[in-house]
Amino acid sequence: MTHRTAVIGAGLAGLASARVMRRAGCYVEVFEQSKAIAGWIATTRMGIVPFDHGAQYLSARSDEFRTYIKEREALDYASLWEPNIAFGEDGGTKLLNWYVGLPGMSAVVRPLAESVRIHFERRVHTIKREDRSWYIWFDDQTKEGPFSAVVVAVPAPEARLMLGHIEELAVPLERVRMAPCWSLVMRFDQQILLEFYVYSDMSQAIRWIGRNNGKPGRKGKGENLVIHASQAWSRETEDVEAEVIAEEMWSEVWHLLGLSHFQPIQMQARLWKNGLVDSSLGETYLFSSSEVVSVAGDWCLGRLAEHAFESGTQLGNAVIDALK
Ligand SMILES: Cc1cc2nc3c(=O)[nH]c(=O)nc-3n(C[C@H](O)[C@H](O)[C@H](O)COP(=O)(O)OP(=O)(O)OC[C@H]3O[C@@H](n4cnc5c(N)ncnc54)[C@H](O)[C@@H]3O)c2cc1C
Repeated sequence: MTHRTAVIGAGLAGLASARVMRRAGCYVEVFEQSKAIAGWIATTRMGIVPFDHGAQYLSARSDEFRTYIKEREALDYASLWEPNIAFGEDGGTKLLNWYVGLPGMSAVVRPLAESVRIHFERRVHTIKREDRSWYIWFDDQTKEGPFSAVVVAVPAPEARLMLGHIEELAVPLERVRMAPCWSLVMRFDQQILLEFYVYSDMSQAIRWIGRNNGKPGRKGKGENLVIHASQAWSRETEDVEAEVIAEEMWSEVWHLLGLSHFQPIQMQARLWKNGLVDSSLGETYLFSSSEVVSVAGDWCLGRLAEHAFESGTQLGNAVIDALK
């Protein structure tokens, strides 16, 4: 019998689990609150210019994720990126072998969505068990189902809201702590960073300054910067308006790099609420085999995209075993 399964969240973890379930013969439907796939591995546009707003690069230490990235690289959807980096006051460390998606980061995630039905702009409110099946309830009070199994692949605080009524999942979810991160994208009509492609851990407030146009496959005139604030500063300022944050972050950056005589053509700040993992679960995923409901995400194992891939992939296998 073909099982109908649901995944909540079209980020890397959710789509990695969807791929495993689809390959095992399930009919998989994904419900995503936004208009696009890839979650925090987003490529967004400011005008016509694409920016990697969230994750800046991918590391691939596990064999499985390395194989996946190498396949993308062979098809020109990913490339090795070896920027020269200035490390600031915290000293910083660089993980070996950084990869980026081509032409943007989200291209790395796209193949996972093949043959999977994705419903966009469907924000899930809760899930309920009725007659040994699962039903998904949305913010607009509509519902979908029945499903044989559900994978919840959203940030831990959001998973808690959906699964708080299932004690064996709610209790471990309490252990996970997540933090916000402000991201600022900026366009300039000329090159402004002459020496380095990346400035890392520059001050208490600024964690990352990167030349988006310095990554492989990104063309165009002028300079496009992506700047990420530190976790601590983002937490302190998470209630401040985005326009004010953009001015403050830019002011800090031009002080740090001596750029006072440059003016951006455009800039836009965005808060990734629950974007970074402060304290992870320490398990690959959470799974209730009696109820066939489960949770995956980067926050299960760490704070990187490769953790999301591993969590989602392993959980997909566990669901298939449970449905046999
Ligand atoms: C600013 C920033 C920079 C980063 N830089 C790097 C980096 O350079 N390298 C690296 O390896 N990692 C980086 N990361 C981490 C990496 O992006 C994450 O580890 C990875 O994207 C997490 O994938 P995920 O699938 O677990 O979650 P997410 O990407 O968060 O996906 C969850 C999805 O669920 C959706 N969703 C949430 N709630 C609901 C709901 N109620 N109903 C329906 N859908 C819902 C969301 O819209 C989202 O699409 C960065 C993260 C941030 C925020």
